[in-house]
Amino acid sequence: MANSDAFLVYPRQEFRARPVAERLQDYHEIYQHVEPGTLMQQGERCLDCGIPYCHVACPLGNYIPAWNSLVAEGDWQRACAQVHADNNFPEFTGHLCPALCEGSCTLGLNFAPVSIRMLELEAVERGFAEGWIKPQPPRFLTGKRVAVVGSGPAGLAAAQQLRRMGHEVTVFERDDRPGGLLRYGIPDFKLEKQILDRRLAQLEAEGVLFRTGVHVGVDLEAEQLCCNFDAVLLAGGAQQPRDLAVEGRELKGVHFAMEFLSQQNRRGAGDSIEPAYELTARGKRVLVIGGGDTGADCVGTSLRQGALAVTSFELLPQPPIQRSADNPWPEWPRVQRPSSSHEEGGERRYCVLTQRLLGNAQGHVEAVEAVEVRWVADDQGGKRMEVVPDSQFTLPCDLVLLAMGFTGPVRGGLLEQLGVGLNERGALATNAQKMTSRPGVFAAGDMSRGQSLVVWAIAEGRAAAEGINQFLAG
Ligand SMILES: Cc1cc2nc3c(=O)[nH]c(=O)nc-3n(C[C@H](O)[C@H](O)[C@H](O)COP(=O)(O)OP(=O)(O)OC[C@H]3O[C@@H](n4cnc5c(N)ncnc54)[C@H](O)[C@@H]3O)c2cc1C
Ligand code: SF4
Repeated sequence: MANSDAFLVYPRQEFRARPVAERLQDYHEIYQHVEPGTLMQQGERCLDCGIPYCHVACPLGNYIPAWNSLVAEGDWQRACAQVHADNNFPEFTGHLCPALCEGSCTLGLNFAPVSIRMLELEAVERGFAEGWIKPQPPRFLTGKRVAVVGSGPAGLAAAQQLRRMGHEVTVFERDDRPGGLLRYGIPDFKLEKQILDRRLAQLEAEGVLFRTGVHVGVDLEAEQLCCNFDAVLLAGGAQQPRDLAVEGRELKGVHFAMEFLSQQNRRGAGDSIEPAYELTARGKRVLVIGGGDTGADCVGTSLRQGALAVTSFELLPQPPIQRSADNPWPEWPRVQRPSSSHEEGGERRYCVLTQRLLGNAQGHVEAVEAVEVRWVADDQGGKRMEVVPDSQFTLPCDLVLLAMGFTGPVRGGLLEQLGVGLNERGALATNAQKMTSRPGVFAAGDMSRGQSLVVWAIAEGRAAAEGINQFLAG
């Protein structure tokens, strides 16, 4: 490392966001590029500590100190190669990853961690700008055929790895465009879709075949895939939404978050929405139930659409600002991390339990009834929820978005036809090679892990590709 005291001289640099008033006018990327000199200083901050906990914490096993050092030296081309060494899509993680690595950075013990994700993103962006990222078609073909069901980050990572290993790979996707939740879930202001298209063009140039608009298990019998391909990878995600079992759930104006988010993605792609299905927050008082990534994305989208007011309910308490004593380094810090959307506006209420949705004479939602709760210690060393007496309140609302997570892969069709076994979390059970209970059928990403993160989906896709390659090699 060029300057071992750099962390004493240069403070950590955060991503610089565009002003809220400006970014609420559009759906473009929130963050701005950072100038190369600042990035090099940020790379210099790495201690090169010898035991890189950051590398262990990253699900991809990215060797982070190597790219920190290359950025510090201004060797962007090798830094770009390094961010690709264990990750097919560092621009997806550079935009979307919560940076599990930074929670374990050794500097984080006494100082602010290295801005690892920022360096990852800038290295890959420099690579695209300079034309260093090129298709890498296979040098030989094995004659083996693999079907990948689902084109989210897990399916795409597996497809690219398998193609580079020389197999013929066909990706089946039920949507009209590939990308999974990167396309029809995550808002454009978090990931502009040309970033996805740019990478898809690379996969196509390498020879990955895409068949969109094919719902396997509905339009195409799953058994047919098993007959026509040497191996099948199931990477269909975990998009079964958790429902809200309260009175008034059936009222008009109550929707799953994904209906709302995917429609905005389609508008952004230039699609027209049939007026009967048009779903917008414009001029409405929006209630978002659920405080995770999906809820935050509903807040940012509602504010951009021109909502009158946006309130989020979260059942759990507000996390602490700093690590608590039972959450020491190098564990992932369970602290408050306001999303860019929450910085943009809306009210966030913690420890709130929704009890009832109230409708008007036309059967449209007009208010919610809720109570406050508190979390108290139980006999098993955990926490249990208790309703706070006399805390009931009513809040007017015209649009309710349910963002309470996902219960697992969508059942029926594909999974039933293949008869694959599930694990205790309701996702597909797999062995160490990512093979399901059915020989030759593999699973990766949210479909085998439950709803998780992009970084895990890529890691699982890569692991499944290794498993399939071994299986095909006999
Ligand atoms: C709103 C939202 C915001 C998120 N934000 C973040 C974030 O900021 N950072 C982060 O790390 N993670 C985020 N996540 C989680 C992340 O998007 C997922 O963990 C990741 O996309 C999972 O990838 P996957 O490839 O396993 O599945 P998916 O991305 O869900 O893709 C699965 C694909 O399979 C297709 N499919 C399913 N069944 C079939 C079938 N039978 N036939 C054909 N095609 C099929 C689906 O149409 C879909 O395109 C977010 C999730 C949501 C919902
Ligand atoms: S993928 Fe995520 S955890 Fe891994 S290095 Fe990048 S930001 Fe860190």
